[in-house]
Amino acid sequence: MSEHTYDLVVIGAGPGGYTAAIRAAQLGLKTACIEKESALGGTCLRVGCIPSKALLESSERFHEAQHAFAEHGIKASVELDLPTMLARKDGIVKGLTDGVAYLFRKNKVTRYAGTGRIDGPGQVSVVSTDGETRLTAKNILIATGSNVATLPGIELDWDRIGGSTQALDYQDVPGHLVVIGAGVIGLELGSVWSRLGARVTVLEYLDRVLAGVDAEIAKEARKVFEKQGIEFRLGVRVTGARVDGEQCVVEYEGGEPITCDRVLLAVGRRPNTDGLGLENIGIETDRRGCIPVGAHFATEADGVYAIGDVIAGPMLAHKAEEEGVACVEHIATGYGHVNYDAIPNVVYTHPEIASVGRTEEQLREDGVEFRKGKFPFKANGRARALNSTDGFVKILADAKTDRVLGVHIIGPRAGDLIAEAAVAVEFGASAEDIARSCHAHPTLAEVVKEAALAVDGRTRNM
Ligand code: FAD
Ligand code: NAD
Repeated sequence: MSEHTYDLVVIGAGPGGYTAAIRAAQLGLKTACIEKESALGGTCLRVGCIPSKALLESSERFHEAQHAFAEHGIKASVELDLPTMLARKDGIVKGLTDGVAYLFRKNKVTRYAGTGRIDGPGQVSVVSTDGETRLTAKNILIATGSNVATLPGIELDWDRIGGSTQALDYQDVPGHLVVIGAGVIGLELGSVWSRLGARVTVLEYLDRVLAGVDAEIAKEARKVFEKQGIEFRLGVRVTGARVDGEQCVVEYEGGEPITCDRVLLAVGRRPNTDGLGLENIGIETDRRGCIPVGAHFATEADGVYAIGDVIAGPMLAHKAEEEGVACVEHIATGYGHVNYDAIPNVVYTHPEIASVGRTEEQLREDGVEFRKGKFPFKANGRARALNSTDGFVKILADAKTDRVLGVHIIGPRAGDLIAEAAVAVEFGASAEDIARSCHAHPTLAEVVKEAALAVDGRTRNM
C-alpha cells in the first residue's frame, strides 16, 4: 500500500467522522481523516454542543446566584464577568478538540488538514493552502455535517444578525435579542442571554415551541420559559431582518417591525455538500440537501458511505456517532446496526427536556393503544431540596404488552434521567420492569419509577 492509499478515508472530523475514524483504526483499517477547520471535533465540539452547554452552565449559575441563593439563606452580591465566562467556554472547547487530536495519534488515524473533494471512485483530494494531496481509498465516508440554514429576506452580517456561532460569542449582553425559531438552538441560546440579562423575544412560525417534542411537554416548556421572562410570538412568519444604524429591524407578517440589538437566526441547519465533488461519483442530494443512503449507510456510489447531519434524521451528535461506528463496523466485520427507536433527545434549558421513543401524538396517529403514567417533580423530595420542582415524567406503554414505547421528561436533570429510559427502550423493557427496579432514595430518578408505577395506576406518593 502506497503512503497515500487507505482502507478508509473519512471526510469531516465531527462526532460522526472522528468517532468512525477511531473505531475503524481500532478494527485494523488503515484510516485517514480530512478536516478543513484547524481544530478537530466538528460543529459539536467547536461551535455546538460543548460551547453552548458551557455557557448554559455558567449562565445558570449566574442566574441562581442572583435569584435563588437567598432562598438557601446565602447572601451574595453578584456581578457578571462575561470575558471570563467566554474564556472558560473557549478553554473547554480547546481541551476537548485537542483531545480528539490526541486520540487520532494514539489510534494511528492519519489527519489531513484541508478541504476534502471526491474526484472519482476511490479518489479523494485534500485541498489546502499548501496545494493538493491525492489519496486513494477503498472506502470513503462522508461526514461533512451541517451549517446554519438561512431565510429569504434575512440580511445576515454574521455579527449583529447571525447564527448560533455568533450567539456563542457575543462580547456584551444584548439589550434586546430577537431569536427567529423556537427550536432547540433558539431556546438554549435564548435562555443563556436571557439569564445574563437580555430581553429575549422569540418569533416562531408554528403555533407551538419545540416542534417534534411531545405536545404536552412542549406546552409545559413554553409556560416555564414565559415565567422565566422569555417572550414568544408564535404563529408568525418572519419576512426580513436588517441592520439599521446601531440597531437591527426584524419584520414579520401580521405585526409591527421589532427594533432590537441583535438577531439570532435559528430555523434549522442544512447539510454541507458544496464542493464535495458528489457529481464526480453520480450522487444527487434530496430536496432537503441530504445525501440519500440505503442499508448500512451506503450511497448510490460503490464504496462511498455517508453518516451524521449530512444524511436524513435528527441532527444530533450521538446519532452521528452511532451511525459512524455502525458504518465502519459493517465495513470491517459485516455487522453494524443503529436502533433509531432508542435515540434520546435532550434540550439543555432549565428545566431540561428529554425524550426517547414515540410521542402521544405519534402513537395516536398510528392507532397504537397505550397507557400513560405521569408523575410530577414537585412530589419528589430531592427536587424540593434542589428547589427545582417544575415539570413531570410521562411514560407511554403498550396497552396490551406494557412495553415502554415513549418516555418524555421535563424537569431537573432530565438529560441524565433519560439514560435509564433509553436502556429500557433498547432492552424492550415493560413499564413494570422500571417500576420494580429499585431506585435510590432520595433521587430525581424516583420520579421515573413513580411514573412507571402510574402506568398501572399504582403511584404511591400522590
Ligand atoms: P459536524 O459536527 O458538523 O462535523 C462535520 C465536520 O466536517 C466539520 O468539522 C466540518 O468543518 C468538516 N467538513 C465539512 N466539509 C468538509 C470538507 N469538504 N472537507 C473537510 N472537512 C469538511 N447535538 C447534540 O446531540 N446535543 C447538543 O447538545 C447539541 N447542541 C448543539 C448546539 C448548537 C449551537 C449546534 C449548532 C448544534 C448542536 N448539536 C447538538 C448538533 C450537533 O452539533 C450535530 O448534530 C453534530 O455535530 C453532527 O455531527 P457530524 O459529525 O455529522 O457533523
Ligand atoms: P430546529 O429545527 O430545532 O428549530 C427551528 C425552528 O424554526 C422550528 O420551530 C421552525 O418552525 C422555525 N422556523 C422555520 N422557519 C421560520 C420562519 N420563517 N419564521 C419563524 N420560525 C421559523 O432548528 P435549530 O434550533 O436551528 O437547531 C438545528 C439543529 O441542531 C436541530 O436539528 C437540533 O437537533 C440540533 N441541535 C440540537 C441540540 C440538542 O440536542 N440539545 C441543541 C442545538 C441544536
